[in-house]
Amino acid sequence: MTNVLVTGGAGYIGSHACKALRDAGFTPVTYDNLCTGWQDAVKFGPFEQGDLQDRARLDQVFSKYSPIAVMHFAALSQVGESMQKPGLYWHNNVGGSLSLLEAAVAAGCLNIVFSSTCATYGDHDNVLLDETVAQHPINAYASSKRAIEDMLSDFEGAHDLRSVVFRYFNVAGADPEAEVGEFHQPETHLVPLMLDAIAGKRDALTIHGTDYDTPDGTCIRDYVHVCDLVDAHVLGLRWLLDGKKSRVFSLGSGTGFSVREVVDQSRAVTNQAVPIKEGPRRAGDCTKLVSGSTRAEKELGWTPTRSKMDIMIADAWRWHQSGHYDR
Ligand code: UDP
Repeated sequence: MTNVLVTGGAGYIGSHACKALRDAGFTPVTYDNLCTGWQDAVKFGPFEQGDLQDRARLDQVFSKYSPIAVMHFAALSQVGESMQKPGLYWHNNVGGSLSLLEAAVAAGCLNIVFSSTCATYGDHDNVLLDETVAQHPINAYASSKRAIEDMLSDFEGAHDLRSVVFRYFNVAGADPEAEVGEFHQPETHLVPLMLDAIAGKRDALTIHGTDYDTPDGTCIRDYVHVCDLVDAHVLGLRWLLDGKKSRVFSLGSGTGFSVREVVDQSRAVTNQAVPIKEGPRRAGDCTKLVSGSTRAEKELGWTPTRSKMDIMIADAWRWHQSGHYDR
């Protein structure tokens, strides 16, 4: 039996994870309420529509597929929205995860790969972030992810549910074959918004804040290619299936890019002008988030191959130009 339950499998990262799981010989079973995902992104295994907080529906799906593990991506993930509506994030992300973990334990499915975020570290001046850095989330999205990490360790103590937790830095790029890619509605992420501006689908990209304490005044982030990221998830799954202990891994490239540097690289890769506007800071944004961890490489044997800014933008642009992008 090689079914893996993928919550949020109709979303950006989840759909790429389904492709990687299928390519690795597993059957990804997508569980998604389609609140931000797309049914036509479910291409690599069965689809079961449902909400994480619908425990009866979850029980049904666990019983139908008897998954050997769960990859848990389903979550609301907009920092700005989480500052306006923290209750929504606690209900959906934390409440939904509680329901999922209880259903998994009841079904005897005790392996979970969880999608967390480097935003749980919060603002640390000029520190490269690794798994040992203290977590001080500064927005409700990150607080909700941090709470789920705590929930996982409590469930391990009581129910032997083991987990691999991945704290992602910024995810970008798309499947090089453009079968799946990034498409949020509404879109809030830098790379797709910028490509929309280049393609004339938006007037301009607004740079959120130019007065940060960074060399060019704009925020610095560490970008990792979605295909490298999901490869780490398959390695994390194998880690659990090999019976290894629960572990946290940060996933980033170790290189920081400012917003202006991402704009410059996009101009170079697409060979087109990037219309930009300068705007105020966005609530909840950290100044700089850059990975200082090599734990995933050393312990999981993770070898990111596509996490170079020009490759990420080229892959995202190919997807953006493909017929699949416009929904
Ligand atoms: N950003 C921006 N304009 C946008 C969207 C994002 O300047 O329209 C900046 C944002 O402030 C952050 C970086 O780009 O510094 C990455 O933001 P994104 O929303 O892609 O990811 P996040 O870091 O919030 O997870």
